[in-house]
Amino acid sequence: MTKFDYVIVGAGAAGCVLANRLSEDPDVRVALIESGPDRNSRKTIVRMPLAMVTFMAPALAFLGGPKFMQWFKTEPEEGVDDRRIDLPRGHGTGGSTLVNGQILIRGQRQDYDEWRDLGAFGWGFDDLLPYFRKMERFEPLVDSGSDSHLPARAEREAQPIDPDYHGVSGAVNLAHIRTVNPLTHAFLKAAELAGHRFNSDFNGPRQDGYGFYTFTQSNGERVTAESAYIDPIRNRSNLTILSGRRVTKVIMDGKRAEGVVWQDESGASGETRGTEIILSAGSFVSPHLLMLSGIGDKTQLSGHGIPLVHDLPGVGENLQDHLDVSVEYRAKTSVPYGGSWRAFPRNLLHVANWIFRRRGLFASTTADGGAFLSTTGSERPDIQLFFCTAIANTQNAKGFSTHGFIMHVCQLRPDSIGNLKLRSSDPLDRPLIKYNFFQGKSTTRALREGVRIARKIIGQPPFVPHLDVELSPGREAEDDDALDSFIRQNVGTLFHPIGTCAMGTGPMAVVDPGSMRVHGTSGLRVVDASVMPKIVSGNTVAATYCLAEKSADLIKGNRRSEMA
Ligand SMILES: Cc1cc2nc3c(=O)[nH]c(=O)nc-3n(C[C@H](O)[C@H](O)[C@H](O)COP(=O)(O)OP(=O)(O)OC[C@H]3O[C@@H](n4cnc5c(N)ncnc54)[C@H](O)[C@@H]3O)c2cc1C
Repeated sequence: MTKFDYVIVGAGAAGCVLANRLSEDPDVRVALIESGPDRNSRKTIVRMPLAMVTFMAPALAFLGGPKFMQWFKTEPEEGVDDRRIDLPRGHGTGGSTLVNGQILIRGQRQDYDEWRDLGAFGWGFDDLLPYFRKMERFEPLVDSGSDSHLPARAEREAQPIDPDYHGVSGAVNLAHIRTVNPLTHAFLKAAELAGHRFNSDFNGPRQDGYGFYTFTQSNGERVTAESAYIDPIRNRSNLTILSGRRVTKVIMDGKRAEGVVWQDESGASGETRGTEIILSAGSFVSPHLLMLSGIGDKTQLSGHGIPLVHDLPGVGENLQDHLDVSVEYRAKTSVPYGGSWRAFPRNLLHVANWIFRRRGLFASTTADGGAFLSTTGSERPDIQLFFCTAIANTQNAKGFSTHGFIMHVCQLRPDSIGNLKLRSSDPLDRPLIKYNFFQGKSTTRALREGVRIARKIIGQPPFVPHLDVELSPGREAEDDDALDSFIRQNVGTLFHPIGTCAMGTGPMAVVDPGSMRVHGTSGLRVVDASVMPKIVSGNTVAATYCLAEKSADLIKGNRRSEMA
């Protein structure tokens, strides 16, 4: 049996970066094991940016989206009226970047400085900026004409993008949306009239303000971790991609990891052996695999009859995510996207526009712009707004059938801390997941004030020609109690789980920040969103790509010193 130098479990955002960087050395043999399908980035449903809404909609399953999804669910959550919240993840090489909203936000300097202060030495913002730059090819700096179609040109010219914050030769192409819906102009003007400042680059020196999002897209198509990091190097003879294999356990010899056990689609099982095993299966599966392999809280493991390899109580704890509610509006014009008869000819043109020019509605995700604002008066934003030019809700993708728009209100740093525990010792049983929404210190205040800020923006004159009625929560929901009850009944997550194998040095830390090794073991590392000690103030894929780039350097450095 071939023995690899590195066996990477999970070909998502982090796994693809590692597979690329570690196989740069032709003497190193790398296996990348993925439970889902391979060669996904050439599929139209993956490439077309708008197709992401079909992944969430059961009625559109015939288009093939379910193949790229796997679903988890919380247990009944007391803080949200005992609802169980759906938690989708991507499935296949590319992982969640196959199905995500493509918005790229790094977060705030303070987020990473907090990681460092919590014990993740070497992970402050200044340590990470070179890796944020390394991962990206920031199109507006490569091609100065690439965003000349965007409105608010005078503001953008007055506030040029700072090249010190961006890379121009990395693997992931970042672009502005290619076709801006006219309603986004109304949003920008309304945000200004509501007293907010324009920001030409949310990933520059300041995050606060309103402006356009940057997307992981190229030429009107989605860029996935697979298309950015794997497709260009598929022919490396030292890289083996094993797709359709679901890893069920890490093989441990004492405290040393020796390989993994997997099950293929027919149910047959096999093993892959390696000198180093790296778990990159995401924030739900990486801690689950550690527990199934005897690494976790000893009382929990013994309760399920799993022999203890190492008592590590932090495994599965510290689960964090962004909380989100959306305010929905019906429009009286057909300017926002929708599926009416009057928009039928235009929608046909949109299809042709994407097929022939990679522009138009299908090159968009409808969330062209947004804002980072504060509900407390502090300079540091605590909410993120996503202005969507259609009633396409990430929770259920309902409604291209009427013309309307949505303002998503997301709380950037919620205090709810959840956890993930074993349901049983059967690896095919999903773990028990609890987010503890609005428990402990956590309250609905930021979301409630965020809804009020959103309403103030939508209440400005630029929306008067378009706005028919606020559908949800509805104008009658005015006071704190009404808004809190709306939030409890409707809040979901933005599908950004992190923290369940947190790096650090204290008793609850799982991973050593200097090497990504699992504390108390050898030959075993975790590199994915689960190692973030605290959620960042923005969508999580940028932080995941960046941490994987840095981890690859740490792993290569460890190898060099071991061989010296
Ligand atoms: C619907 C959705 C929308 C999102 N929108 C955005 C957005 O707009 N912007 C943003 O920044 N972030 C967004 N995210 C989040 C972002 O995609 C994730 O933060 C990021 O992909 C996490 O990377 P990861 O490597 O930790 O995990 P993933 O990318 O999820 O990769 C994990 C991989 O492991 C594989 N795997 C799982 N179990 C096993 C097993 N047992 N054996 C082998 N392989 C296994 C999975 O199939 C997957 O390929 C979104 C996520 C979702 C689901």
